[in-house]
Amino acid sequence: MAANWKMNLSLDDARALIIAIKRAETDFNTVDVLIAPPFTALALAYELLAETDIFIAGQNMHWETGGAFTGEISPLMLKEAGCTHVILGHSERRSLFYESSAIVNKKTIAAINAKLTPTVCIGESLSEREDGKTFDIIKSQLNESLKDFRAHERTYEELILAYEPVWAIGTGRTATPAQAQEVHSFIRNWITENIGSDIAQDIRILYGGSVKPDNIKELMEQPDIDGALIGGASLKTDSFIPIIHFYEN
Ligand code: PEP
Repeated sequence: MAANWKMNLSLDDARALIIAIKRAETDFNTVDVLIAPPFTALALAYELLAETDIFIAGQNMHWETGGAFTGEISPLMLKEAGCTHVILGHSERRSLFYESSAIVNKKTIAAINAKLTPTVCIGESLSEREDGKTFDIIKSQLNESLKDFRAHERTYEELILAYEPVWAIGTGRTATPAQAQEVHSFIRNWITENIGSDIAQDIRILYGGSVKPDNIKELMEQPDIDGALIGGASLKTDSFIPIIHFYEN
């Protein structure tokens, strides 16, 4: 269960939320929890989450290790800040900051080389879905974002995928479990064909898009949905904790 805080929460609010998550008595044999705070809260998250089973992710990064890239952060900087993971190619990065799949690919390879686990986001827009192009878009995003992935001879443990239909992000409009399952199954088949069947069975494919306490269980019952990437509902204790405890119901 991955929390994407986006550009939200003061340090005080971040502290209160992390403390509540730590106290939630989560069964970490059943669920892995990942928190992606804004860069300015990474040090706080690292301090509070040291010696817990909760992972920390950056929300983005540059592909170079350092240099004249004003406003950017490198893979090594994220690692130094305590991150084990990084979210890449979120639809807000793709649409608002013009990140192409070719850029996502450079970042994915850089993350893997730095031993940071990339969570690579893909998903179609509403017009693409309505035009019947969902699978074409997913396929081309996978082809381009994961280009040369196999050449790096890494294992599935170093890659997470997140299917996030753009029309479901922050809109309150969730894909139905059947709609999400259909695309997750397509993604798993793509991995079988392009990376390997063992990896396809074991890789985690997360669903993201208006995940809430009242839809997480049904989503998680789908055979190809292995977890969730949660935006809005990850910002509050009373919604995030029931989501990470989905296994109790
Ligand atoms: C997200 O930001 O990745 C996301 C899925 O947001 P929300 O849960 O708010 O739709």
